[in-house]
Amino acid sequence: MVDLVIVGAGPAGLAAAVYARRAGLSTTLFEALSYGGQIINTPEIVNYPGIKSISGFQFATDLFEQATNLGANVVFEEVTEITGDSESGFWVRTTNSETRAKAVILATGAKNRILGVEGEKRLTGRGVSYCATCDGGFFRNKTTAVVGGGNTALEDALYLSNICSKVFLIHRREEFRGEDALIKLVQDNPKIEILTSYVVEKINGENSLESIEVLNKKSNEKKLIQVDGLFVAVGMVPNGAAFEGMVEMEDGYMVAGENMKSSTPGIFIAGDGRKKKVRQLATATSDGAIAAQECYEFLKLGGKI
Ligand code: NAP
Repeated sequence: MVDLVIVGAGPAGLAAAVYARRAGLSTTLFEALSYGGQIINTPEIVNYPGIKSISGFQFATDLFEQATNLGANVVFEEVTEITGDSESGFWVRTTNSETRAKAVILATGAKNRILGVEGEKRLTGRGVSYCATCDGGFFRNKTTAVVGGGNTALEDALYLSNICSKVFLIHRREEFRGEDALIKLVQDNPKIEILTSYVVEKINGENSLESIEVLNKKSNEKKLIQVDGLFVAVGMVPNGAAFEGMVEMEDGYMVAGENMKSSTPGIFIAGDGRKKKVRQLATATSDGAIAAQECYEFLKLGGKI
């Protein structure tokens, strides 16, 4: 039986692994995809305290190496179920294995929300993308559109404006949700055409994206816009569905307070999958550090380590 299983190798899970290993907890970390979570796709991080500038890939790689060098055991398998309790131990089941643990940190993060319109699924990977920094390079000197009004959409539009000949930024409301500084940069960028109060109704193309149909929600005017690429940046949905019933959830997010303790003793929540207001890289790693420390105290006080 290991002291701790961490589910998810994004910034929250990896930070938890660093703190758990430094506290001497035997730690196994499960990750369904690749390490790094959402941050791996960020071209440049400039708001992480103490680091002036770093790529998301480099940050994630450094954090991954920090955790593994400290002795965290990383297993690339998807956790499908957790049963048991803190008294007799938890059973963490993956697609291939079963691990018994004294405590668990759920740091499963969130994934891209889809628009849910006709043509989206069919043309994903054929012009429709959810990652501007991954796929923007395919659209050099072409026309693209970004959907969304948060920081991701604003950053994506700015990023694409350096590559593409023209970028439409389509948002369903008049006001953007993202930061003022980014809004100003977007508004001042001659390559970006802003379409507010517009929604995408349909995505057209035979084998690859050809055009999108948009509707102005105020005037009911419809437009057909020829685009080569469409970047959907309409937020995230949490990944915690597998743990429904095991911990309290609200709107799909796992509930835990500032001590990261879930409704189930011995299970802690960290990162973007936790019900909270601010979801930033800094708050994800902070959650991970707190969860590991609280977990250590929980096991120590319970006489389990
Ligand atoms: P977000 O802040 O949740 O914004 C999602 C945007 O998509 C909103 O403008 C929303 O519109 C729109 N939207 C949602 N569902 C839609 C739908 N079905 N159709 C059309 N539009 C839809 O998501 P995010 O931009 O991915 O950011 C997530 C978190 O990461 C935020 O906390 C953000 O601040 C943070 N982040 C920070 C940075 C940075 O600090 N540099 C960079 C990226 C992300 P409404 O506004 O009308 O709801």
